[in-house]
Amino acid sequence: MSIPTPPVGAADIGVTGMAVMGSNLARNLAHKGYKVAIHNRSAAKTETIYAQHGDEGEFYPAESMEDFVQSLSKPRVAIIMVKAGAPTDAVIDQLADLMEEGDIIVDCGNALYTDTLRREKDIRARGLHFVGAGVSGGEEGALNGPSIMPGGTVDSYKRLGPMFEAIAAHKDGEPCCAYVGPDGAGHFVKMVHNGIEYADMQLIAEAYDIMRKALGMSAGAIGDIFAEWNTTELDSYLIEITAEVLRHIDATTGKPLVDVIKDAASQKGTGAWTVQNAAAIGVPTTGIAEATFARSLSGDEEERKAGVATLPELAQDVDITDVKGFIEDIRLALYASKMVAYSQGFELIRKGSKEYDWNINLGDMARIWRDGCIIRARFLDRITDAYERNADLALLLADSYFTEEITKAIPAWRRIVSFAAQVGIPVPAFASSLSYYDGVRSDELPANLIQGQRDFFGAHTYKRTDKEGTFHTLWGEEGRKEVDA
Ligand code: NAP
Repeated sequence: MSIPTPPVGAADIGVTGMAVMGSNLARNLAHKGYKVAIHNRSAAKTETIYAQHGDEGEFYPAESMEDFVQSLSKPRVAIIMVKAGAPTDAVIDQLADLMEEGDIIVDCGNALYTDTLRREKDIRARGLHFVGAGVSGGEEGALNGPSIMPGGTVDSYKRLGPMFEAIAAHKDGEPCCAYVGPDGAGHFVKMVHNGIEYADMQLIAEAYDIMRKALGMSAGAIGDIFAEWNTTELDSYLIEITAEVLRHIDATTGKPLVDVIKDAASQKGTGAWTVQNAAAIGVPTTGIAEATFARSLSGDEEERKAGVATLPELAQDVDITDVKGFIEDIRLALYASKMVAYSQGFELIRKGSKEYDWNINLGDMARIWRDGCIIRARFLDRITDAYERNADLALLLADSYFTEEITKAIPAWRRIVSFAAQVGIPVPAFASSLSYYDGVRSDELPANLIQGQRDFFGAHTYKRTDKEGTFHTLWGEEGRKEVDA
């Protein structure tokens, strides 16, 4: 069977890549009244989607890329939703060869932002617009309303923005989509979103681990606690689904499903991208880093087998006399650590924005994550408020609301981290968040000693607290002779 040639210039927008994300995004656009051209490398997929969903709106299926491009009204807008990496480059090339000046190529895949920087430069040189747009919310979001983070030129947003805002999730009547900034800004923000998601999930997992190991609670009972927490400041999609995951019973064994799931977490790479980038531009995103490494440790069978076989626990028994109070401590430790993880993520966006001259509005980013995406949470309103109070806030935690909230949680947070250390429960994200907190609020860090060591072995020089300038010292025996002389 072959697909008839679609009429020239009939469609408002096109989507190429008819796997789950692309087809759902195309259907979402059609549901909102847009005329949508659809295309896939293997035409059979286009035919199937058209056969199954063609009656949901106005679709223009195309067999060839030529037909697809010709079916778009000018200036043309073509969304790419294919496998990230080389496949995306291949499709960009095909489209760019067929498009004309002023047309817009949109990559909604999970691209690394440095790839988007490169692609935008190439495509701009060819007279076209290139938009790297982060899309969050998985397949359900793509169909019913994702959070969308588009980069690119302001002009391209004028054409594309209204369509994206129409299909995005809405919260309090506002779309979860806003122009992020030039070239790679959209994919950068999506990367940090995913990094924060890693940290949030790890923190929730650590709270669960303490409850099951220290209190011997069943998965279902812990699920009930998370459901309760979802009525507090922690109210979020991730806490809500955690309660459901923990309460789910396995049809085969009759046990809680989570108890028969292997404890080896997978990752697709966006956590690692975030950590690599944060390290490169010098932003301490310790929560995201610990979450990424915790997944690596969980999946390293060899390392874990060796550790389990040889390393002693040598833990202490600690009595828990007030179980209710202890669970509330865990909740507060989770809340405080979560504030740190978000503060660090927003700091990475702020510094990345400065580094690349993107001028990203941080309050807008929190606003467009309030619905449609995986980290959607009540908490994000507070972040928007904080950046509305001060758009240049250097540290989210230093905003009055967050300072007040974290202050309430500190004693519980310290109790839980020391409890976990005493009894031998790993809490890398809880503990590193608390250490970051203590670091960022310290007026004295031990970096003076590190500068001394660096100057000793590498003559790297140092600055002094009592006078201006850069100094180098003759250390060791030689230096002592000089002082004695
Ligand atoms: P996918 O499995 O990542 O990719 C399959 C699609 O890519 C198919 O349409 C396939 O065409 C096409 N493709 C692969 N190699 C190609 C090539 N060399 N040339 C042209 N087309 C090629 O699909 P997906 O899960 O729907 O995801 C699409 C994009 O969205 C990815 O970048 C993904 O990272 C991103 N994303 C996914 C999610 C999610 O929850 N799944 C969420 C956000 C973003 P054929 O049918 O011809 O093989």
